[in-house]
Amino acid sequence: MHQRIFIGLLSGIAAGLALQGLRHSGFLSPAFLEGLDASLLSPVGKVFLGMLRMVVAPLVFASLALGVAQLGRLDRLGRLASRTFALFALNMAVGTILGLLLMNWLQPGAGIDAAARSSLIASQAAGVAKAQAGLAAQSGKFNVGSLVEMFFPANWITSLADPNLQILPLIAFALLCGMAATSLSESQRVSFIDAMDLIARLGTKIVDFALALAPYAVACLMASAVVRFGAGVLGPLLLFVFGVLGVMALHLFGSMTLLLKAFSKVPPGKFFRGIRTVMLTAFSTSSSNATLPTSLRVARDELGVSAPTAGFVLPLGATMNMSGTALYEGCVVLFVAQAYGIHLDLAQQAILVLLTVLSAVAVSGIPGASLPLIIGLLGNFGIPAEGLALVLGFDRILDMARTVLNVAADLVTAVIVDQSSPSPDSP
Ligand code: ASP
Repeated sequence: MHQRIFIGLLSGIAAGLALQGLRHSGFLSPAFLEGLDASLLSPVGKVFLGMLRMVVAPLVFASLALGVAQLGRLDRLGRLASRTFALFALNMAVGTILGLLLMNWLQPGAGIDAAARSSLIASQAAGVAKAQAGLAAQSGKFNVGSLVEMFFPANWITSLADPNLQILPLIAFALLCGMAATSLSESQRVSFIDAMDLIARLGTKIVDFALALAPYAVACLMASAVVRFGAGVLGPLLLFVFGVLGVMALHLFGSMTLLLKAFSKVPPGKFFRGIRTVMLTAFSTSSSNATLPTSLRVARDELGVSAPTAGFVLPLGATMNMSGTALYEGCVVLFVAQAYGIHLDLAQQAILVLLTVLSAVAVSGIPGASLPLIIGLLGNFGIPAEGLALVLGFDRILDMARTVLNVAADLVTAVIVDQSSPSPDSP
């Protein structure tokens, strides 16, 4: 699959450049290219994006409610659980903040040349104008009241029907349902968990269907982007990709080294040497879940983590702790906003950090799982979800990289928690 997507990416770019060349040399008329884009290239991409969009609401709801309902059993683990969650949250928040700092500094989306930018904006004119106006109106007026209103609007059902799907109220509702489920009788809680698990599995299967289309969709989306916006989008896109890879490396070897030094006795060098197989498995499978068996073995055999701690932290981390994903989600939102010329001020970016961490928890540990959530995040700021098409071509390689971070963060947490808390089965 990786190879096919990569081939799709390269052939899409090549086809786009060739079509552009033919237009410049007069062999193809602009009207022909427009027709080709409207009747072939864009529709294939739209089916792909449309399938992802359909599953956003059920998937976010079911995964979060499921996660919280399952945690009910963990209440009694006290310190171990609270340290684990604190480290998960810290790791995801630090990753996102680093990503946003870099995107603000590099401004890759702002580097798109004027002609490409105006056709990009023109392609979503109404949506972009609405987002710009909405965010500018909110700018500087942020307070606790407005944050509460984002989570608890007058009517959360209509917020879901908004063309820019508002996921915050849905997140709040899912968390409340999950919490309420923990107070049900054991058999009712189990039924609730089974139902949520079923919905999450269905949503995940639909993401799989979309991903089966990915090699073709990526080729069409890239060709369409180059035909419509010119080769001027490629440079900024590469800057974005290398920027994200760079900041991922910084988070992996920088932040995680600091965490290990501050809170554990395991030397970072030994840690990174020990988890080489885990990193390779994560990179080649793009799936935290598929990497879990390797992580469990390495945590015990190479890092000396006790079996009960590894058995508690790592499966939980594979589903909840998505440090690389959080970093990536924040970067994509900012990049797409920059590309459309939509400004997010400091308070709005702070909300983005919070939302990113919450939504990363809802991402499952399988390839491409964060894509529906990114659509939700874009919608939350009113940014047209079509902007995601810009980065989709490179998503797979960035998925491989962010999965490495996701599992490394789980192992860092396991090492630290193991050294600082009694293991879950001790009295
Ligand atoms: N592929 C990632 C994982 O399994 C999730 C994602 O960001 O899509 O950890």
